[in-house]
Amino acid sequence: MKNKILTSVIITVLFALLIVASSFITIINLEQIKNTKEQLRNINLLVSELNDVTDISRNDYEELKALNNTKINGIDVRFTLINDNGVVLYDNEQKSSENHRDREEVKKAMETGEGYSKRYSETIKSDLIYYATRLNNNFVIRSSVSINSVTIILKENIKYCFGILLVVMPFSLFLSLRLVKKIIDPVKELESVTLKMTHGDYKIRANINTNDELGTLGNSFNNMAEQLQIKIREVIDNQNKIESILKSMESGVIAVDNCNMVISINPCAESLLGIKKNIVGECLLDHIKDYDIIRFLEQDDVNDKEIKIRHPMERDFKIKKSAMVDGMEGVGKVITFQDITDINRVELMRSQFVANVSHELKTPLTSIKGFAETLKFVKDDETREKFLDIIDKEAERLSRLINDILVLSNIESNLAVDMHEFEPGSVIEEVINIMRKTAINKNIKLEFKDNSNEKIFGDRDKFHQLALNLIENAIKYSKDTSGKVEVLSYNEDKYYCLRVKDNGLGIPKEDISRIFERFYRVDKSRKKGGTGLGLAIVKHIVKIFNGEIYVKSELGVGTCFEVKIPYL
Ligand code: ADP
Repeated sequence: MKNKILTSVIITVLFALLIVASSFITIINLEQIKNTKEQLRNINLLVSELNDVTDISRNDYEELKALNNTKINGIDVRFTLINDNGVVLYDNEQKSSENHRDREEVKKAMETGEGYSKRYSETIKSDLIYYATRLNNNFVIRSSVSINSVTIILKENIKYCFGILLVVMPFSLFLSLRLVKKIIDPVKELESVTLKMTHGDYKIRANINTNDELGTLGNSFNNMAEQLQIKIREVIDNQNKIESILKSMESGVIAVDNCNMVISINPCAESLLGIKKNIVGECLLDHIKDYDIIRFLEQDDVNDKEIKIRHPMERDFKIKKSAMVDGMEGVGKVITFQDITDINRVELMRSQFVANVSHELKTPLTSIKGFAETLKFVKDDETREKFLDIIDKEAERLSRLINDILVLSNIESNLAVDMHEFEPGSVIEEVINIMRKTAINKNIKLEFKDNSNEKIFGDRDKFHQLALNLIENAIKYSKDTSGKVEVLSYNEDKYYCLRVKDNGLGIPKEDISRIFERFYRVDKSRKKGGTGLGLAIVKHIVKIFNGEIYVKSELGVGTCFEVKIPYL
């Protein structure tokens, strides 16, 4: 660019100088011819004064000859005297015998008094400048000089001209270079700023401080950069917002183009599909192992479906796909994955719970119904007594079951939570008092140690239920006579702790993880009349108190439950 401008500027300058020089030479040439003409005219005037020219009788032309040494610019002037018939009477160089009447300058002089011409002389064999003047006696005196008289001057002038050119040329080159630099520097500045902007530096601005078009261009460029920076910041902000929304979503979202190339994928979708690397720009189908999902993505007529996948883990998905449209044109699709495993599990648990409840209620009811019907036909008092006793026990079990179901449902639905501060030790004391009689009946030693000295905040009745269930279980699953139940209430760091320890039956290892499930009983043959809901209730209450429950147990040795509740 710089070289191109420089070359064209130099060519233009040289061309201009050449035109100026040639115009200068032409003007000098014309001026010189004019001068020569003037000089010849003056010489003619001088000659017209001579006696031997005006007097025809004198034909020695002595006076005229005396002018032989007349020179213009060092070149001899030729004199020709021509009579009114065009006959050459005198020529100081070479007298021509030809009639000169038709010579251009002579003809003009005869007609108008003066004539001029510049032409080639066959007589002298060179280019001459002629000037003819008509005398009073109608003769014509013509003086002429070789064109060399002009060119000699011209040659001298050309020397000056070249001299001037030599001085002007470096000066104009210097000016051209400065001009080019003035044009190129802002362009270079714009070029480097543009390059930096393409590499992501949108803060950079062009530094062009001129008051010309390039300065205006620089200002417009900076304004454009400012707008671009604002727009890009807006785009990045929007993108960040969308990305953080997508990141925080608990549903998987994937956007793909028409060729199933991934445009965007959120972390939830990656973890649901077990994708461990960035797959943006890659084909989604290459990274999905589940055949059902691949088929769903390829089907155009199905837009949502429930799918069960086995990789990376067994999960239930609700998949939806919708078209991404830009104007009227479809540019891809957005696929959303909703993990409905928990919803399905809850649904399953609900139906199982209903089945379990029905089953659990049915067992004592069937028994009550059976014994009641048989009772009608039993006459023997002892058997009647026995049957009535069974009916009473089953009815009590039924009532316990219904009571536990109601407590559990109340806890699960979080109804009417009565929150206030209370001393956990006093609540446990109440429970111990309730259970003491049962323990004495079973000959079980029931010990309570209260080391807690801080109140806890929450629902006192629920805490009562929690302690009751744990202590009741400890007594229930203790060996008669040699049993011992230790209840300890204490503080540890920021936690209130309740420990209920017994030396009873213990829980088999494989059952420990399941004892908190509803209706789960370790060994139905234990026949302790439990409902299987006690620990499920405990687990829910602990959750309400934001606490944790731990269990350690060894079959035949004993069990220890520990509840930890954080102080607020
Ligand atoms: P249940 O009404 O049958 O006692 P729970 O939910 O309270 O129901 O307990 C679930 C199962 O855990 C019981 O069937 C029992 O076998 C076992 N279990 C609970 N507490 C103890 C304990 N202290 N010692 C031994 N086994 C226990």
